[in-house]
Amino acid sequence: MSIARNLPGSLSVAIIDRNQPGQRASYAAGGMLGAQNEFYEDNALYRLSMAGRAMMPEVIAALESETGHPIHFSQQGLIKYLSRPEDIGMFNRQYQFLSSTDSKVRLLQQDDLKKLHAGIEGTSGIYIPDDGQIDAACYTMALKASLAHIDFYEEEVISLTHDSHYRIRTDRNQFVCEKLLIAGGAWSQDLLAMLNIHLPVSGMRGEVCYMYHPTLELGPSLFGTNGCYIVPKHDHHYLIGATSHPDRETFVSDEGKDWLLTESSNMIPALKDGEIIRTYSGVRPFTENHALYLDECRPGLYIATGHYRNGILLSAITGRYMAELIQGRRDPVLNHFKLKEFTT
Ligand SMILES: Cc1cc2nc3c(=O)[nH]c(=O)nc-3n(C[C@H](O)[C@H](O)[C@H](O)COP(=O)(O)OP(=O)(O)OC[C@H]3O[C@@H](n4cnc5c(N)ncnc54)[C@H](O)[C@@H]3O)c2cc1C
Repeated sequence: MSIARNLPGSLSVAIIDRNQPGQRASYAAGGMLGAQNEFYEDNALYRLSMAGRAMMPEVIAALESETGHPIHFSQQGLIKYLSRPEDIGMFNRQYQFLSSTDSKVRLLQQDDLKKLHAGIEGTSGIYIPDDGQIDAACYTMALKASLAHIDFYEEEVISLTHDSHYRIRTDRNQFVCEKLLIAGGAWSQDLLAMLNIHLPVSGMRGEVCYMYHPTLELGPSLFGTNGCYIVPKHDHHYLIGATSHPDRETFVSDEGKDWLLTESSNMIPALKDGEIIRTYSGVRPFTENHALYLDECRPGLYIATGHYRNGILLSAITGRYMAELIQGRRDPVLNHFKLKEFTT
């Protein structure tokens, strides 16, 4: 949807999605714009993430004013939290990297953690003030509302072929187009296989628990080195994430729920008294080495996938570069995100 939003109104564009667009991984996401939280060294993806994060405030403001949908952007930062003593090496390496590139990043000891929030347990954290967060579900709803001029088809793609044009068969319709973009998340591999392209994208299910606590006040998001995080949402709601299971299912297991509740209350004990509003899961598009693919892999055939844990963070910048690519302008940044070697 973010790519479609960046295409000019003069183009004829249709979105085909078997689910309501934005209701899969994008809907389940924690909404963190964790450009620094996710990285330990400088590389092309880190730079893309930083540029993507910088774009988000303007994109959100524009979407909110166009559609009237609040997206709940919060810029109170993120604390990378040392969950386990054995993570200290990784934790120190991340602090070295982040503090060498951003003087606002601070190392927090126990007392500093308590100053930020009296109820935090723990000994060390890295404060990353510029990693904000949004409500991902509201963001996808606003994106959809901003695309009223585009045709949406809630249909399943069952075959893709190419001759002079791309031909798409769904469970209900047939479409013919000059240009085809595959942005099927964890299912992109299945769609590309219909065109004899092998791209190793798989699914990584993440379970999430959405809670309410009437008195807990938490500003920054907390992200443990063990992968458990607490993202404060509007009106005393807290999104607790996330497990990682290599499959494309969408259930929440009892073990997953227990892990979320135990690990989050190890960070903020008050959460034990919170009310569970709902649990749900989403499937992240996972690739080897966390590779991101933004490319024109054959003439007129485009791919945007592999966003893994950062699809919300990278949404605006993916939209901008892919829309340019579709219109024939290839930014050199995209040379880092090609998938040529997998084409058969
Ligand atoms: C628990 C969890 C927490 C996350 N937290 C964050 C976070 O804090 N910050 C962040 O930046 N990112 C986060 N992410 C990652 C982010 O949600 C994903 O990277 C992003 O949503 C991927 O978007 P996508 O459009 O590629 O995939 P999706 O949102 O999964 O969309 C792919 C779409 O393709 C459709 N599709 C597939 N095959 C077919 C077919 N044959 N026919 C028709 N339609 C088809 C699917 O129905 C789906 O709607 C999180 C993800 C999860 C699961």
